[in-house]
Amino acid sequence: MVQIRGLRKSFGSLTVLDGLDIDVARGEVVCLLGPSGSGKSTLLRCINHLEAADAGVIAVDGEIIGYRRAGDVLQELPQREVARQRARMGMVFQRFNLFPHRTILENVIEGARVVKKEPRESALEHARALLERVGLAGKADAYPNQLSGGQQQRVAIARALAMRPKLMLFDEPTSALDPELVGEVLGVMKDLAREGMTMIVVTHEMGFAREVADRVIFVDGGVVVEQGTPQEVIDNPRAERTRSFLARVG
Ligand code: ATP
Ligand code: MG
Repeated sequence: MVQIRGLRKSFGSLTVLDGLDIDVARGEVVCLLGPSGSGKSTLLRCINHLEAADAGVIAVDGEIIGYRRAGDVLQELPQREVARQRARMGMVFQRFNLFPHRTILENVIEGARVVKKEPRESALEHARALLERVGLAGKADAYPNQLSGGQQQRVAIARALAMRPKLMLFDEPTSALDPELVGEVLGVMKDLAREGMTMIVVTHEMGFAREVADRVIFVDGGVVVEQGTPQEVIDNPRAERTRSFLARVG
């Protein structure tokens, strides 16, 4: 479903992604591990074209993200087309960035209303079902600051799902949370995985990766150092770089 070939990205003289190749199958849950600064967030931002790659191609469902082929060259897609592609991917960040002056329900329907032009009634119905699914049916009319961090992050997941994405990208969704709130967010993500959502998850939660990931990919130095099942990569890493990383994160 996702094909990444030869992805390169530099910031000035700093090469962050140095020819990355990654495939993700439909329904697969891939956990992405790597040291701080290894380009994990940059990779996710390239996948939904918040960053433009310097070289390489990213395709989702066979469609190149951000570009179209014109003979031998790639032509940039108009912004409207990029927005359409992006709407098929839900992204959940470390920080939830909910609109503070809108209710939880309004936050959840916003994207579907504005980007997908979904009628208000059906957007509301879907949003209520999603809030139920993330265990927050009772909070529809609350405001973000009345919710705990874990609840806000669950709203952020519901907001992403409101766009009916084919693919979910998570960038350390629990790393800003108090430890006691991590479990409820991981629980929602586990449910989503079980329901067959295709997911790419940047995380330091090894327990989650072990339990939920179909595949773990360790990136460092801008390349995939190793990948395999959680048992292979987390419990029996082959590369020295993977071993020393795992020793540090526990
Ligand atoms: P972390 O685990 O700390 O979140 P990461 O693996 O997500 O790290 P990135 O955020 O992708 O790493 O950053 C990779 C490198 O690129 C870092 O050195 C970062 O400082 C640099 N970088 C990222 N975005 C930019 C930018 N917009 N401009 C300049 N440098 C950037
Ligand atoms: Mg990051």
